[in-house]
Amino acid sequence: MTIHRFILLLLWLVAFFPGPAPFAADRPNIVVFLVDDMGVMDTSVPFLTDESGQPRRYPLNDFYRTPNMERLAAGGIRFSQFCAMSVCSPTRIAIMTGQNAARHRTTNWINPDKNNAGPQGPPDWNWRGLKRGGVTLAGLLRDAGYRTIHVGKGHFGPRNAEGADPRNLGFDINVGGASIGAPGSYYGQRSYGLSTQRSQAAVPHLEKYHGTETFLTEALTLEANARVSDAVKAGQPFFLYLAHYAVHAPFEPDPRFAAHYADSGKPPSAQAFATLIEGMDKSLGDLLGHLDKLGVAESTLVFFLGDNGSDAPLGQPHEIACAAPLRGKKGAHYEGGMRVPFIAAWARARAADPRQKRLPIPAGALQGQQAAVQDLFPTILSLAGAKAPPGHVVDGLNLEVLLQGDPDRSRPERFLMHYPHAPHRSDYWTSYRDGDWKVIYHYFPSAASEGSHYQLFNLDTDPFEQANLAASNPAELRRMMAGLIAALEAHQAVYPVDQQRAPLKPKLP
Ligand code: CA
Repeated sequence: MTIHRFILLLLWLVAFFPGPAPFAADRPNIVVFLVDDMGVMDTSVPFLTDESGQPRRYPLNDFYRTPNMERLAAGGIRFSQFCAMSVCSPTRIAIMTGQNAARHRTTNWINPDKNNAGPQGPPDWNWRGLKRGGVTLAGLLRDAGYRTIHVGKGHFGPRNAEGADPRNLGFDINVGGASIGAPGSYYGQRSYGLSTQRSQAAVPHLEKYHGTETFLTEALTLEANARVSDAVKAGQPFFLYLAHYAVHAPFEPDPRFAAHYADSGKPPSAQAFATLIEGMDKSLGDLLGHLDKLGVAESTLVFFLGDNGSDAPLGQPHEIACAAPLRGKKGAHYEGGMRVPFIAAWARARAADPRQKRLPIPAGALQGQQAAVQDLFPTILSLAGAKAPPGHVVDGLNLEVLLQGDPDRSRPERFLMHYPHAPHRSDYWTSYRDGDWKVIYHYFPSAASEGSHYQLFNLDTDPFEQANLAASNPAELRRMMAGLIAALEAHQAVYPVDQQRAPLKPKLP
């Protein structure tokens, strides 16, 4: 064949057999990189801002080492007011369904082995979590042609329930996901818990690393990278949900990074927590490097986030300590319990890429508008050209305007956080954010609620929740409580119960 005829043949092949191009050209690969129990302050990237909206560093930013998060943030946009539910399963199911926990009704973390509603928790809360055949982000993406890859922590349902196996929930592949909410151990030498007293919480599917020095975070990263390679080789767009067990307790030090914190003056558990953070950050860097090596970094959109407020072992749950300068930590009704890091970035920026043209993300930008975990669902579906079926209520709002660094005036700045359970750091409460105001309703007044049903804060003038205005501003309290009550009703929430097992609904002051 002459060169001339060969070129003609090539042109003909390209014209008539574009192969997987419709996917490859239009739709991004999606990575959700979810870190367990990582709050907004557990990083060297400053997420909080000063009065003029500029990033402001606090001492915790200088304690933690997350160079790969710094790199991701430098190439993309991060949010200063991104909210999650205050514990694990409610957030995870909000990501998968696009619904606030008040609506999907998994309002507490799922204990794998017993219904943990709490003594006066709602009998009809959704302890069993997600079910086979239900609407999920993964299932909709799979139906749209994506390869859906689950690596890491599931925690979508109790032991032996349908939700315990992510493959029942729309994932083609599952490595490491089960009913457990925490790993038996991070150490390969301990078979990730199998050879310990916490064997019921052993992380499954990682037998080939048993007996090795492979830290759990590293093993999951190797597995995720291998599954991404397979998808790329097959020419299929992929949705990677990499949900690290890190940085959840047990706070076992990652020996690769221990020396970095030995002279910090912090207690050993806090040093161990910092090594879990740094190992998670290495995983992010390794994944980004792998996407580059495969040549898919430009077509891959990464969402990095935590699943609830910080659980750093640094002080009392209701103080300014674990998430300083924010008050509170995981489980608590203050901002430290629900504010998480959020970064969105193309794995490698290239303005000419057609997918990046559709969603240009400014480099090094900071978005100050409030957003929340349920917003990922409509955002990712939109980018993938997929839709939730009619009848499935979506509480989340599309983030595409905010991701481009613009204000989105069509979005109300409202966040409902409903925790009708006990015991935890805060018991039986609902909070409601509307603009600068935040009200907290405590179903049973206690010391943690300053002896009242109500707390009221102005997050603009008092971002660290020091001045409870419930008594001094009754008009605003009443207006905010009316909003809270209406929001719970609109979400068809379930409530704690009284001694006669009747629902206890919040009351106006
Ligand atoms: Ca968590």
